Amino acid sequence: MSDHYCPHCDVAMEETTVTAEGVGDLYVKTKREKGVLKRLGIGDNTSLDAFLCPECGLTQFYADLST
Ligand SMILES: [Zn+2]
Repeated sequence: MSDHYCPHCDVAMEETTVTAEGVGDLYVKTKREKGVLKRLGIGDNTSLDAFLCPECGLTQFYADLST
């Protein structure tokens, strides 16, 4: 289901969950009012999707831009 590929191994990365247990979900926090992130629609608490490479373990985060 993943359309993300590891830049090192060129294999499909698995969506996974990264948590800070007891703290809550990870999210992107932005404070800038006029930054490029704001123009892209990324708000204060944008959640992150994590994708893990099964070959080398590289984990990438993607901010959820659909909300
Ligand atoms: Zn890899």
